[in-house]
Amino acid sequence: MCDMEVDVIIIGGGPAGSSMGSYLAKSGVKCIIFEKEKFPRPHVGESLVPSSTRVFNELNFIPKMEKAGFPKKFGAAWTTYNSDQIYHHDFKDLEESDVDIRFNEREQQDVDQPYTYHVDRGLFDKLLLEHAEELGAEVHQEADVFHVEFVNKDRVEVKVRFPDKEEKKYACKILVDASGRNTFMGNKLKIKIKDPVFNQCAFHTWFTDFDRNSFKDPDFIYIHFIPVSNTWMWQIPINETTTSFGVVTQKDNFPNTNEQREAFFWDCVAKRPELDKQLKKAKRVRPYTVEGDYSYAMTELVKDNLILIGDAARFVDPIFSSGVSVALNSARFASRDIVEALKKGDHTATSFDTYNKTIRAGVNNWYNFIKMYYRLNVLFTYFVNQPKYRLDIIKFLQGDVYDDTAPKLLKEMEKIISQVESNPKHPLHAFLGNLTSNSFNVFEKKN
Ligand SMILES: Cc1cc2nc3c(=O)[nH]c(=O)nc-3n(C[C@H](O)[C@H](O)[C@H](O)COP(=O)(O)OP(=O)(O)OC[C@H]3O[C@@H](n4cnc5c(N)ncnc54)[C@H](O)[C@@H]3O)c2cc1C
Repeated sequence: MCDMEVDVIIIGGGPAGSSMGSYLAKSGVKCIIFEKEKFPRPHVGESLVPSSTRVFNELNFIPKMEKAGFPKKFGAAWTTYNSDQIYHHDFKDLEESDVDIRFNEREQQDVDQPYTYHVDRGLFDKLLLEHAEELGAEVHQEADVFHVEFVNKDRVEVKVRFPDKEEKKYACKILVDASGRNTFMGNKLKIKIKDPVFNQCAFHTWFTDFDRNSFKDPDFIYIHFIPVSNTWMWQIPINETTTSFGVVTQKDNFPNTNEQREAFFWDCVAKRPELDKQLKKAKRVRPYTVEGDYSYAMTELVKDNLILIGDAARFVDPIFSSGVSVALNSARFASRDIVEALKKGDHTATSFDTYNKTIRAGVNNWYNFIKMYYRLNVLFTYFVNQPKYRLDIIKFLQGDVYDDTAPKLLKEMEKIISQVESNPKHPLHAFLGNLTSNSFNVFEKKN
């Protein structure tokens, strides 16, 4: 006996799960979201990209974003520690310099505002989950999904534990895993592959009274490059007075204890004097949080009666703030297939084929873009500064990655990187990062 039968059960009430609940409820699908935490809860991933706006528009969520007063994000900036290097030969224009972009430089279909948002994820996730409930999704917080059974082609049963240790059983036709980096179904089905290259970790916190006005565009996200291999820091406005900072580095560089990690954080800050000066005057208002070892993919994103979305499907390094947008857009694409599958009464994996192909292509594009950034980051700066490539780069940074399986930009970057790799005398050879393209290939063949 089940406590309740619905069309769709969603595990997780983060951006992926709650936008999925909103889309389905809007289409009249009976769905239920189980979220194991009580919201608001803190969460990493605070800077959005504009492709999120399409989802907010479709779900009529923009008025709530505006009312909440989240800082508007008009663009992004990357700062370097070494701006006096100039290269000659074929790359005579290339210099390692600070770069920035504004989102309004490129028009986006169905995105009608020149900015996106930075968010306090506690508040943002709570508002989005409440929105799903308002649209008709049933929402349970402090509801931990701990068991799933695929009974037959039309029935999945799910067991949920509530705070008083009470356990209940629910049934659905289609299960959506939106459990984030917990990767509930990925672990259960053993379909998760750890990324052999992106072995990154992060250490982050919030400060008040950091003077953002000492930076050219105080409302941008700043990514500060640090002269330690594959290491950078984010600076994200959270509200008028609060700014989020985090350091991302390779696991090999990441110290073992929290005390050493805090020292590493401040060592990184000290390598950027202008940041050091401002941050030393600010006050830390949150404990430091560690995000460990996080890049992975799943061998399958859909199975009979099952769809994986958001971080539960795949996680790529956060350098370009892609995660929430992927979560929202994966719900957008997957919900269309789910609605059709329910209409047809066919809940097998083939019904979710469009979603599977679209999200794979989009996230692979992000992954390839990011891997090339890590392999040769001066090339990213060069491309941003070249009028010929600038709009293509901005398209990526806006999160418009789903409409092309082989973007020209990526091919161009790949071509240059392989020239640099194969020619030790190339002026950029010395700037190659230590993540090799061969190791990337090993990972890609599996996907
Ligand atoms: C260091 C770092 C920096 C990042 N920076 C950015 C950034 O600037 N911008 C950006 O867009 N993204 C960023 N991200 C990525 C971003 O955090 C994620 O991509 C985003 O939160 C994914 O949303 P989601 O809904 O898939 O997962 P989540 O937001 O993690 O939500 C999953 C939810 O599922 C719940 N859950 C898990 N298991 C169960 C269960 N068994 N039963 C019930 N509920 C369950 C969890 O409690 C959680 O609330 C960053 C990530 C990292 C690691």
